[in-house]
Amino acid sequence: MGYHSHIGVLAFPFGSHAAPLLALVRQLAESSPGTCFSFFNTADCNRAILADHVSPNIKAYDVRDGAPEGAAAAASHMEAIRLFLAASPGNFEAGMEEAERAAGVGIGCLITDAFLWFAADLAANRRIPWVALWTAAACALATHMYTQEIVKAVASPAEATGESIQQVLSFTPPGLPPLQIADLQPEIFIDDRNPSPLAATINNMVEKLPKSTAVVLNSFEEIDPIVAQDLKSKFNHFLSVGPAALRRLPQPPPGDDSGCLSWLEKLPTPRSAIYVSFGTVIVPPENELLALAEALEFCKFPFLWSLKEAAAKALPEGFLRRTAEYGRVVPWAPQPWILRHGSVGLFVTHGGWNSILESICGGVPMVCRPFFGDQKLNGKMVEDSWKIGVRVRDGVFRKDETVRVLQRMMSSREGDDARENVVKMKEKAEKAVGNDGSSTKNFKKLLEIIGISK
Ligand code: UDP
Repeated sequence: MGYHSHIGVLAFPFGSHAAPLLALVRQLAESSPGTCFSFFNTADCNRAILADHVSPNIKAYDVRDGAPEGAAAAASHMEAIRLFLAASPGNFEAGMEEAERAAGVGIGCLITDAFLWFAADLAANRRIPWVALWTAAACALATHMYTQEIVKAVASPAEATGESIQQVLSFTPPGLPPLQIADLQPEIFIDDRNPSPLAATINNMVEKLPKSTAVVLNSFEEIDPIVAQDLKSKFNHFLSVGPAALRRLPQPPPGDDSGCLSWLEKLPTPRSAIYVSFGTVIVPPENELLALAEALEFCKFPFLWSLKEAAAKALPEGFLRRTAEYGRVVPWAPQPWILRHGSVGLFVTHGGWNSILESICGGVPMVCRPFFGDQKLNGKMVEDSWKIGVRVRDGVFRKDETVRVLQRMMSSREGDDARENVVKMKEKAEKAVGNDGSSTKNFKKLLEIIGISK
């Protein structure tokens, strides 16, 4: 089929960045069958996120991941990111040329992960719009956009890593609660002389993002109205168009090889089960896996735990056998479906943004054990601002404390209050994606901006 317009989509293939970008592109592609979307991503990541069915007007292209030919997999997540960034934007430019030849139409707009700041120049050179998807929460973006003010509020750079990380900052971005250094992304306190590739990327992003035509988020304005209002003043357009997890989920869910949903179906009591997952990147240290497993075994609440196979080897001897009647450990779970299942009463999470949104969409309160990036700030917001869950004490799982927090959240007034709050938040999210809701209006605006409004 001949297409009347062509949009280039540039993914950041790490963590859970590319899947939300693809979800946005799917929604746009459905709204505009006459537009072709070329989705540029590494081969590994394309394989992981592209299900058997994508719209005919989305075409995926594999771009170089930067690893030397024939080399073994990168030693670490950070090393893989470094190699990929070193190969960019040349890898994307090569893909774009190939896609333009194949489509017979020039790329008229770029939609990219916000981390891919060089898209500002790619778009400017072609005189086309640049739409940047920020894949985390608005509050995390606010802390990056106020990096200078935050860094000034820290008396000496050593404090950012030293003992004073508990220090409450004298500056707080509008709409956020008082913050400690420990609540923030370490990349904010960048060492200018020797920045990590990720810190340098974020620094560049902060500089370039105001040049974008629009910044788009998988979120809804009502979760942090003051933050949203403030960020609208910083960008040409600031458009929260989510949560995507509230859209109708395909049935049956893909990726439920372990039968998680039929297992939940058999539980007699609503909200009686705990779901545990730490996202796609994190594997908690062994001592914490042990502490959490012992706490789950002690509490005897039904539990469903998504845990990578390699990590499951660290579970206590005999744990799976002893808990078989009320617990399941699986290597992958259809999380959005699980969190919307009535049997789930609590989510133990690392606090990744997608996980938090999916929990809100399911009306499920959280216990957060944040590890890196924006997870600490998300955990802080969950507990102090949104009041839809708590963080584990001292930031790590220890058996006795974990038993206490699970019991409090599953069977005390505190858990009920968090559940009431998360259900209210879910209702706000539903309104946002409803007919006249803020996210629906923002999505229409996005269609206009990229020139495919009907
Ligand atoms: N996820 C899933 N099944 C699993 C583990 C994770 O579907 O067993 C999905 C989850 O629904 C979410 C994403 O992986 O959409 C994790 O994203 P998040 O932003 O929470 O964390 P990250 O992976 O970036 O650390």
